[in-house]
Amino acid sequence: MKDRIKIVKKVRRVDKPPYIIDESRLKRFPRENMIFGRVKWEGYHQKHNKKISSLIIEGKPGYSRIDFALAYASWIVHDAFEDGFSRKRIKQFRTPTAMKKSDWTKTKCKIEDARKMSTYIKRAARLFGASLVGVCKLNRKWLYAKVKLPRKFENVIVMAVEMDANGIATSPTAIAAAATGVGYSKMAFVLACMGEFIRNLGYEAIQCGNDTALSIPLAIDAGLGELGRNGLLITPEYGPRVRLCKILTDLPLEPDKPIEFGVREFCRTCKLCAKYCEAKAISMDNEPSFNGVCKSNNPGALKWYVDAERCYLYWQKNGTDCSTCIKVCPYNISTSGKHKLSPEEFWKENL
Ligand code: SF4
Ligand code: SF4
Repeated sequence: MKDRIKIVKKVRRVDKPPYIIDESRLKRFPRENMIFGRVKWEGYHQKHNKKISSLIIEGKPGYSRIDFALAYASWIVHDAFEDGFSRKRIKQFRTPTAMKKSDWTKTKCKIEDARKMSTYIKRAARLFGASLVGVCKLNRKWLYAKVKLPRKFENVIVMAVEMDANGIATSPTAIAAAATGVGYSKMAFVLACMGEFIRNLGYEAIQCGNDTALSIPLAIDAGLGELGRNGLLITPEYGPRVRLCKILTDLPLEPDKPIEFGVREFCRTCKLCAKYCEAKAISMDNEPSFNGVCKSNNPGALKWYVDAERCYLYWQKNGTDCSTCIKVCPYNISTSGKHKLSPEEFWKENL
């Protein structure tokens, strides 16, 4: 990739999130319309498994037995540790509730300064492994349709976990898929620890991955970044090379202001993600629009809509998922990793 563009970022805090909504059109998104909700998940895996066996025999670099072994290993914590995405206290040997008579977590910790509590929360999130963390008020239009939550859940802690730059640099191989899987597994860890931290303070925590509410608009509200042409959150620190998770809570917190650093203007002319997308799923239009392009889009927000059906069909053809629109984005900056790597380069001992 020779056409990598250098960017200059001036991040400023703004009073309103940097998105434009047509209130008459935007509805709460039905979760079943997500692309993965529209396919039979088991069928998806069966197709993948058949494809993987033939790819391994074919011997294509980045799709070997070792590469797929890595990709499937990366998801193990996410898949095995369901409690990471729990709404309740996780049963553990050390938990204060195990010592019923001396359960100091039963009362609410007195919080007089919501701003200070936000600082504690951010520090804790970083300790537990979040790369970025922000806080926003819960805008209920970002909840999936049919989700009902008591009004007391008014705050959201949004966390981003950086994905390995070297792994993503091999996209669309199974190695890049491993970088994604590790992101999800780390999310389970961060969420579990943060949920327990909040419950130990006597408050409630609903730990969410991609469920319950739309992560990207919440991350924008919480000041973590802006929306890119590729349909992903673009952060100033890592570009789109992050996974997102969030906790809905009644813990008193002070929200952060959103940020702006010129992503929409840059995306108007950059178009690298659209150029390199094998599925031609990303719009090449100069201007964003309010109209979706497939059933898995939610019309009513001004953006470049990504054709999730084309994207997903490419994943099936590829035998694994794809992160090329993350890899090629000029905002994908890393001090520790490369932007483009062959599988052979990735597996070098001293990379
Ligand atoms: S994940 Fe791959 S196929 Fe899907 S939109 Fe991004 S570049 Fe295109
Ligand atoms: S590759 Fe370019 S057009 Fe696509 S999201 Fe990144 S900056 Fe925007």
